[in-house]
Amino acid sequence: MTTIALATGSGSDHHDELTMMVREFATKRIRPVTEDLDATERFPSEIYEHMGQLGLFGITIPETDGGSGGTVTDYVSVMEELSYGYASVADQCGLVELVGSLLATFGSEQQKATYLPGLLAGTTRCSYALTEPGAGSDLGGLKTTARKDGNDWILNGEKIFIHNAPVADFAMVLAVTDPDKGKRGGMSMFLVEADLPGVQRAYHEKKMGQKASPVGGFIFSDVRLPADALLGAEGAGFSAVLQVLEKGRLGIGALANGISRAALDTAREHAQSRTQFGQPIGQFQAVAFTLADMATDYEAARLLLRRGAELLDRGEPAGMACSMAKLFASEASIRTTSRAVQILGGSGYIRGVEAERLYRDARITTIYEGTSEVQRLIISRSLLR
Ligand SMILES: Cc1cc2nc3c(=O)[nH]c(=O)nc-3n(C[C@H](O)[C@H](O)[C@H](O)COP(=O)(O)OP(=O)(O)OC[C@H]3O[C@@H](n4cnc5c(N)ncnc54)[C@H](O)[C@@H]3O)c2cc1C
Repeated sequence: MTTIALATGSGSDHHDELTMMVREFATKRIRPVTEDLDATERFPSEIYEHMGQLGLFGITIPETDGGSGGTVTDYVSVMEELSYGYASVADQCGLVELVGSLLATFGSEQQKATYLPGLLAGTTRCSYALTEPGAGSDLGGLKTTARKDGNDWILNGEKIFIHNAPVADFAMVLAVTDPDKGKRGGMSMFLVEADLPGVQRAYHEKKMGQKASPVGGFIFSDVRLPADALLGAEGAGFSAVLQVLEKGRLGIGALANGISRAALDTAREHAQSRTQFGQPIGQFQAVAFTLADMATDYEAARLLLRRGAELLDRGEPAGMACSMAKLFASEASIRTTSRAVQILGGSGYIRGVEAERLYRDARITTIYEGTSEVQRLIISRSLLR
């Protein structure tokens, strides 16, 4: 499988070496098993342990905390390369990046020592649990509560659509601690061990795509948490969520763009090898122009992602740029994968053919980590402010 472009060129040798290393890993270690993982929905622990050894978890986490000490620009490239291999694997990298970043930023020395080594080695499994039946795009609707009982906290509520919930060792859980204060000041983040009494893994969802990413729910029934389960200050949970929001959006945008690149590669190969009416179908302008549109979508998304990452790396305001990048890259991945299916013809609709899987894997990218409508809200509010 050839790639259409080298998504390198940040001007840093380290960045380019990292990108090429992950590209090789994705090609040799992930792509050979991707279709099998899609069919079996197996959680590929051995791939994650290998990634831990290569330093592919915690790309932007400081080296003093056991991370790779890289930039957001590095992280975006790693996510694209992993997703070119398989989006579910990139998803795991993105999840650890968010949870690990919050631990490194807000965790006590004890919390960091407990969770970070296993997380970054790819051996401890985490969840990031925000969404609830009544709170998706609007976290203001959160109903999960944590109330003080002496030095302890008592956690009650339900989380749904949570990545890794069926397999997690612990979850980072957002809960209401002061209903009178609302999102800012009234929510706190907790580190919840999944085997505590009262924690129930509610279900394991059957999804359309990204099949090797287990997704499910948690039900918390009078779960007693020790005082040191609180991450950061009481009432600072929502601002912690905001702290990693933009990086998270770039990560999912890059994941979507890795899917687009894979879609373009498989469509281009088919256009060159499939003959109809006595010539390769890529010789028909309709097919050739479709490939041109796909490549343009991919490159435009890559530039938007790079721009958002550079702003974050420089510590400049990046909200609108990151929302634009996530919006464009995710919507583009739906266009590119749909076009790949069309170029593949009937075979693009058959299970086990890459284009069919990519089409399913792309679909969630306009929904999680903030829907496209939420990104448009953020962009339009910035324009009209
Ligand atoms: C595979 C998968 C993995 C996930 N992983 C996680 C995870 O690990 N942790 C976690 O906490 N959550 C996770 N989620 C949940 C995900 O983040 C939510 O599904 C997403 O935020 C949307 O929320 P919702 O599904 O409740 O949709 P809703 O918020 O109910 O939105 C429904 C529709 O209404 C639109 N809408 C809502 N508000 C507005 C508005 N103000 N203006 C215009 N349109 C609007 C939305 O854009 C959408 O089209 C996951 C979901 C899936 C499917």
